[in-house]
This record gives sequence, C-alpha cells and structure tokens, in this order.
Amino acid sequence: MTKTIAVFGGTGAQGGGVVRHLLGRKAFGVRVITRNPQSKAAASLAEQGCEVAPGDLADSATLKKALQGVHGVFLVTNFWDPATAGKEHEQGTAAVKAARESGVRHLVWSTLPNCREISGGRYEVVHFTNKARVDKEVEAAGFPYHTFVEAPMYFQNFAGMMAPQPQGDGSKLWAFPMAADNRCIHGGDIDDLGKLVARVFEEPETAGKGQRLSVTPGAMSWQDMMDVLNAQGHRIRYARMPDADFDNLPFPGAAELREMMNYWEEFTYFGPDAETKIARAKALVAGGLTSFEDWARDNMKP
Ligand code: NAP
Repeated sequence: MTKTIAVFGGTGAQGGGVVRHLLGRKAFGVRVITRNPQSKAAASLAEQGCEVAPGDLADSATLKKALQGVHGVFLVTNFWDPATAGKEHEQGTAAVKAARESGVRHLVWSTLPNCREISGGRYEVVHFTNKARVDKEVEAAGFPYHTFVEAPMYFQNFAGMMAPQPQGDGSKLWAFPMAADNRCIHGGDIDDLGKLVARVFEEPETAGKGQRLSVTPGAMSWQDMMDVLNAQGHRIRYARMPDADFDNLPFPGAAELREMMNYWEEFTYFGPDAETKIARAKALVAGGLTSFEDWARDNMKP
C-alpha cells in the first residue's frame, strides 16, 4: 500500500512545493490539509491526484481526523495570517500532538533559527523564535523520525513585496535598513524546499534523525544581488534606510522585518551554524539548489 504524506500549507508557497515534488517523485500519496477544501487551489490539487482533507491549525479538534492513517507530515505555520501571528507555537504544538496521537512516523517541521537564544535576548523576531520554540515539542514527541527544515528568504519576495521600486527614470531602488555589502542574506527559491522535503521523506535513515537542514545556495548581500541583476540588464541602486523610517512604512510587520534584518546583520539569516546546516541540505538534493542568477533570469525581467 502506498504511504501517504499529509501536507499543511499545500495551497501555499512552501507546502505547494512539497506537494509538487512528492507528486513528481511518485513514492508517496499526498493528502493536502486545508481550511477550505472547496477553494480553487484545493480543487486543482485534487485534479493533480492529491487527497484533500479539511483541517485548521487554529482548531485542534480538526487535526487528528485530518492526520488519520498518514505515514508522514510536512508542517508549516503561517505567521503572516492575522489569525495566526502570535500563535505559531500554539498551532505548531497542537499539530505535533495530533500527529503523534495519530501514529505518524515521520514529521518534517518548517522552522527558523531561535533569534532570541542566538542573540542572548537582544533580538526578538517573533516569526523566527515562535517557530523555533516548537522544535522542543517535536523533539519531545518521540516520532520514529523527525526533521527540521529551515526556509530561506524566498527569492520570490523580490518579484513581489520586496521588488525594487521604479524611480520614474528607468532605474529602480532597493532601500532597506541594512548595509549593502553585508553577506548575511540566506535567500533561496522556495520550490527547492519542496525538492528537499520530498528527499527527506525518502531517506529517513539519513535525514530523519533530528537533522537541521537549511535551504539556500549560499549567503549573499544586497550588493551581490544587485550585481547579478544589473548584469542581466536591470538598473538597480541601493540606499540604506534608517531603522526608524523603515519601522514607519505603512504595512503591518515593518518593525518585525526591521528587527529581523538587524539580527541577520549580526548573526546571518540562518545563524552561527549556517554552513553545517546548508551543507547537509545540499548533500540531499541531486543537481543542487537554484542560484539567484538562474532564478532571476527566469523571474525578474528588466
Ligand atoms: P502562503 O503561501 O502565504 O500560504 C499560506 C498557507 O498556510 C496556505 O496553504 C494556507 O492553507 C495555510 N494555512 C494558513 N493558516 C492555516 C491554518 N490555520 N490551518 C491550516 N492551514 C493554514 O504561506 P507560505 O509562504 O508557504 O508559508 C508561510 C510561512 O513561511 C510563514 O510562517 C513565514 O514566516 C514563513 N517564511 C516565509 C519566508 C519568506 O521569505 N516569505 C521565509 C521563511 C519562512 P489554506 O488557506 O488552504 O487553509
């Protein structure tokens, strides 16, 4: 009988990549857990061969049924959903408990470094630390196999909310509260996380013993990325924005992102053990991870 992997966030970026690569490799059946099984995204996944099951991380009573009979779980929580923001630890813990009670054998948790511990309490990046706090619950649950994967800053952000801003003269501007030349940004194509997670479920003996895997081709600075883009025909320049100006930008979460960038500048995105965690992830993905050059050529037109 084919083993099934339940995927949270299958209608989104991280889980969507996991679903794509699990379906592509055909080693497992896929059950997408969604709050809205009637959505277009869920219907499209059903057409591609996924089972679609209702489940809401904010309603723990729905989780055990959603996870019934599955072999593995990919778990991601969504800080940026207003209903979730401060509740990632609560939601992650509820899902871990439900998975354990349902007899799940391999749990893969999408986490991020614990900025609070790494910085000795100087940086409070809620969407990093509240994910990291779930790690202890995963460790304590006693799954036969468990894996921690750390998502990069998505390259996809540069074609969306972090796109360089047109200046009216054909040039574009990136303005962030960071030095241009600090090589501390661990970015990546979020589809690569799916590629890695599919391999992790196939290789529990080498990747399911509590390993921490960070998904990125390597650290870059804003200057590195501008050099790549400008060589591809863009005209982008960079200006360092004062912290207070960034905090006052009119979007929710500006101060959270500024705090995150302050943390990156001192410790890098994936933190002090980044190189070990990155090497482990790379070793599992045949053909390597997508470079910024390759991703930008296909996804950011001058
Ligand atoms: P996304 O594309 O915005 O999609 C959100 C997904 O989460 C949807 O599939 C949604 O499913 C699911 N979801 C939300 N609330 C849920 C709930 N209560 N119960 C069940 N499912 C729920 O999200 P994403 O980018 O894949 O993941 C978001 C996470 O990535 C955030 O926590 C963020 O901190 C982290 N992250 C982001 C970046 C970045 O650069 N953007 C980098 C590292 C980590 P339905 O709507 O179908 O229910």
